[in-house]
Amino acid sequence: MTTRKALQTSLIHTDYRAPEGFGALPHAIHHASTVLFKDVAALRARNWQDKSGYTYGLHGTPTTFTLEARLAEIEGGSHCVLAPSGLAAIAMVDFGLLRSGDDLLIPDNVYNPNRELGRWLAQDYGITTRFYDPMAGEGIAELIRPNTRLVWTEAPGSVSMEVPDIPAICRAVKARREAGQDIHVAIDNTWSAGIAFRAFDHGVDIVMQALTKYQSGGSDVLMGAVITRDRELMRRMEMAHMRIGFGVGADDAYLVLRGLPTMKLRFDAHDAGARKVAAWLKQRPEISRVLHPAFEDCPGHETWKRDFSGAGGLFSVVFDERYAEAQTDRFIDSLKFFKIGYSWGGAHSLCVPYRIQDMRRGWQGKGQLVRFNIGLEEPDDLIADIEQAFGAL
Ligand SMILES: *Cc1c(COP(=O)(O)O)cnc(C)c1O
Repeated sequence: MTTRKALQTSLIHTDYRAPEGFGALPHAIHHASTVLFKDVAALRARNWQDKSGYTYGLHGTPTTFTLEARLAEIEGGSHCVLAPSGLAAIAMVDFGLLRSGDDLLIPDNVYNPNRELGRWLAQDYGITTRFYDPMAGEGIAELIRPNTRLVWTEAPGSVSMEVPDIPAICRAVKARREAGQDIHVAIDNTWSAGIAFRAFDHGVDIVMQALTKYQSGGSDVLMGAVITRDRELMRRMEMAHMRIGFGVGADDAYLVLRGLPTMKLRFDAHDAGARKVAAWLKQRPEISRVLHPAFEDCPGHETWKRDFSGAGGLFSVVFDERYAEAQTDRFIDSLKFFKIGYSWGGAHSLCVPYRIQDMRRGWQGKGQLVRFNIGLEEPDDLIADIEQAFGAL
């Protein structure tokens, strides 16, 4: 029986309910700010931290919970919380774990906005932030202070491509935790997408992913995730998520869910293409170094061989020192298939120059560094493109 109502009310309230039992392959997209409770008692009893139900759109919907559960499973973790960008996920870890007076260790080759956030925390929030040599390995033990709360890692650094010894860093941190210190290791695992490096199996406590890259695969979404195996540890990040309001939109979450089934096939195709292009570049006289973890002369190559099962599409090259920046800029401008822009993980190949001498302490050599993201084009076409662009040097 329908209730009598004016047209204006009918435009808002309906008694129609779609039939139950609809089945389809894609995950459903649930848009909501308000989430409804069946009565006041249910509203009063509701705890936003309990993910067996719903409280408010910001704290999760079936769409975001599904994505979180799937990401946790892919990474080999148990708990996941989403953030509106990869950088927001990094911030969620920092704000979840750090208090003023704490000490933060960040590798010197880290994703640059992570470094910038660390500097800001030091400047305005009473944290000490120190940048360590990513190749420190066991030596990290000497850098840890009684108030060191968080050690960030990134494997490899996404510009200079050194592969750190993550298990060694994790052992040093674990020894301190077993002695009673509240200290954890977080990894920015974006480069390997949780596919090529199983971070939890190597001792990492917190995994951060920029889903913007391989998970979405479409160059059209910004999103991040933080994953743990430890419920209590995740609660600290969830508090930051709730207090700052790091919600994600349902349509964006859907786009990432849509990318997951093909993620490994794409990752493997990027990997094969990148190795082919990198191998070609390696024998060219214009190039002095190819920085790709699967290549023997990449710092940390042995660690990569021991701990990783793949490489994806990202690597850098250092040009011969005889080429000035203006020449390598002309080279990049002359590329046809490689577009100029940040990020990676989409179908399009990309190329970016970095002033590595200003980014990385103790960097040896003066040659220009250029980073390639190998997309899903035919690798031979990409090689031909690079070869013609060398003409502009
Ligand atoms: C892209 C990226 C991020 C940040 O992701 P956004 O979604 O662009 O904020 C963090 N770390 C690494 C290594 C990245 O490549």
